[in-house]
Amino acid sequence: MLEIKNLSTYYKVLRGYVKAVESVSFSVEEGESLGLAGESGCGKTTIALSVTRLLPVGGQIVGGKILFENLDLTKLDDYEIRRNIRWKKISMIFQGAMNAFNPVYRVVDQITEAIIAHEPGVTKDEAEERGQKLFELVGLEPSRIYNYPHEFSGGMKQRAMIAMALACNPKLVIGDEPGTALDVIVQAQVLKLLNDIKKKLGLSMILITHDLSIITETCERVAIMYAGKIVELSDVFTLFTEPLHPYSQGLIGVFPDVKAPKQRMISIPGQPPDLLDPPSGCRFHPRCKYAMPICKKKEPPFAESKKNHLVACHLIKS
Ligand code: SF4
Repeated sequence: MLEIKNLSTYYKVLRGYVKAVESVSFSVEEGESLGLAGESGCGKTTIALSVTRLLPVGGQIVGGKILFENLDLTKLDDYEIRRNIRWKKISMIFQGAMNAFNPVYRVVDQITEAIIAHEPGVTKDEAEERGQKLFELVGLEPSRIYNYPHEFSGGMKQRAMIAMALACNPKLVIGDEPGTALDVIVQAQVLKLLNDIKKKLGLSMILITHDLSIITETCERVAIMYAGKIVELSDVFTLFTEPLHPYSQGLIGVFPDVKAPKQRMISIPGQPPDLLDPPSGCRFHPRCKYAMPICKKKEPPFAESKKNHLVACHLIKS
């Protein structure tokens, strides 16, 4: 359904170009959930904003293709994206439901506005009716759609955001940190809701998170990002049981095992690099305990080490 080929997205700033996403490739099949994981600032949200063509001022796709149902989204103009793709085929659950709604408009106005903007033939009454059904689908009392965002709890706002993302019956939903800022109980409820809706509507999903445990519960495959690049991609079980890239190993290692004996927590030393001037060769080499001379000079290819398990590391033979 979605195939991203060598996507590069940069942000122009006073000091140059921030290479937020560089030569990223992956695909999402129909009905599949793919998790995108990595530290803050590694380019996960930039991929989502590139796909939905919602990059802020200064952001630009400088290379690659985003094929959605064989249509290259990078070639479409803003009007075509707004009219035919965004929200109707690909929608997004934005980061931080607390701030994603406009506080001075009722939720019903914001959901119906999205429906009418993308489907001009729909009347206000029809859009309201659809909004109420969506509220029912996400487990909210339909009449609450007439409330203002401040009348909702955090979990209710997140559910309302999910309803809004489903307003135009998209085929692909991108969830950008849908569990952030929610307590663990509400987070679990929201993740269960996303899973149920995905199965019920046959949706494809990209789930962006820095929390790997969310991916294990919701996704079939996972891509690990570091400093604007995907460093490892496989099915969730393989990645958690046999992570190959030193960064993936570190990322999994920082999550304590509640059943394991007490031990000192492991962390990844150092800081993510400045993407205005990323490190040469493997971008992880300044923090990698296995770094070799070649790692500074040559970028490792992103290649299959085993069937459907891709990794970019000079240690791993393809
Ligand atoms: Fe570490 Fe080298 Fe592999 Fe990069 S390529 S992860 S620096 S061993």
